[in-house]
Amino acid sequence: VRTPRRSNQRTRIADELARLDTFISAQGLHFRLRLAGEQISLSTVYRTLHLLADLGRLDCVREPGGERLYRHRPGSQHRHYLTCRHCGLTLVVDATVIEEWAEQLRIVAGFAHLEHAVELSGVCGECGSETPEQSLK
Ligand SMILES: [Zn+2]
Ligand SMILES: [Zn+2]
Repeated sequence: VRTPRRSNQRTRIADELARLDTFISAQGLHFRLRLAGEQISLSTVYRTLHLLADLGRLDCVREPGGERLYRHRPGSQHRHYLTCRHCGLTLVVDATVIEEWAEQLRIVAGFAHLEHAVELSGVCGECGSETPEQSLK
């Protein structure tokens, strides 16, 4: 048997992620799909998330606990996020300065296909008023 079913499952996984429009773990996404009656294995969810990441269809951030969270990326342009280390709140940030700087650097250095990864984390206003800052390295 060829793999139309598997590609169909991938579509379901991608659709569910797009519908959510928030960060979710692979387990969380798997749980939602199972609730919706989908017979999809967790390993298929993982494989599909990696595939979508390779295709630039999603954004990935790392939780303070080390778990990866995934979110559908609406455009082809990648985005940068500001994450609260305490509660996991994640905001999309305007990274125009970073994009322009990286592009200039690319031209000056004569590189092609330059990639970058910028992760910003801190303590959000709500968490900061409750707990003193702890520096996490
Ligand atoms: Zn917070
Ligand atoms: Zn960027």
